[in-house]
Amino acid sequence: MLEEYCPDLQVLSIPLRNKFRGITIREVAIFRGRASWSEFSPFLEYDDVEASTWMEAALEAANTPWPDLYQDRVPVNATLPIVEVEQVAGILERFPGTTTVKIKVDDFESGARVVEEVLNINPELKIRLDVNGGWDSDLAISNLLEYHLRFGSVFDYVEQPCRTLAELKLIKAEIPIRIAADESIRKNLGSDFSNFSDYADLAILKWQPLGGFKKAHEIAAEIGLPVVVSSALETGIGISHGLALAASFNAEPLACGLGTVALFEEDICDPAVLPQDGYIEVKRREPAISERYLATPDRATYWKQRIVRVLELIERRSA
Ligand SMILES: [Mg+2]
Repeated sequence: MLEEYCPDLQVLSIPLRNKFRGITIREVAIFRGRASWSEFSPFLEYDDVEASTWMEAALEAANTPWPDLYQDRVPVNATLPIVEVEQVAGILERFPGTTTVKIKVDDFESGARVVEEVLNINPELKIRLDVNGGWDSDLAISNLLEYHLRFGSVFDYVEQPCRTLAELKLIKAEIPIRIAADESIRKNLGSDFSNFSDYADLAILKWQPLGGFKKAHEIAAEIGLPVVVSSALETGIGISHGLALAASFNAEPLACGLGTVALFEEDICDPAVLPQDGYIEVKRREPAISERYLATPDRATYWKQRIVRVLELIERRSA
């Protein structure tokens, strides 16, 4: 089954430079289909049902041509994990030419210190905050009003300040910063996305979590808001498909969250899929894997078993 669906499968384990969403090692599986190399990399805590959506994206990208592309390069934002102020400059240097910075925010004060540091480095930068649903509506309203008061109109948007749509709707009327929905979309696939402008101003689209190109376009059409394509911390292989997704909309792309290979110790593609002058080129990528990023036999077995279960789930569903 593995050879049939995922030829040339390799399981890789790549260290991150900074802890990101609680992990320091990114494990991924890559394989080669009829059209392209592809990547299957749901995070370890995701169950097989959620992972099967990621596999549908991976199989589609491996075996079918990319959609029509309207751009040959895509602007990206810099991405700052939750870090100490002293680390900010060093991380921003890995995103040359970017004019927008997305900052992961936990509590108000440490987030404010990072915003301050970013603006000290370059006052022209546009700021996006990503709260990953961490605040309730009261806290979101007071924190975001305070950010606005302190820093003015530097904010491009705040991503998923609260977890639920009901909370997003509540705060949307109260805060002077645009709201982007991320988890509200990718964790609620199959739900009704009409009237989405009641909750958000922008939609974050991710190639793997949404199930691939076709699904992402269907969701974007249903939501009807401007989109920002972002990564799921993929290697250059997965990022190449995210870039294609961003380039497949017939509109000038907003800065995408697709520069995240910069958070890896190293990419598995050569040249690495990293921004130059704030942009990344949209083109097919191939892995050039250093031996030291091969996963241990134990971890490779874990991933192969996971992949078989997920493929069986997809087969049962389509039977
Ligand atoms: Mg997000």
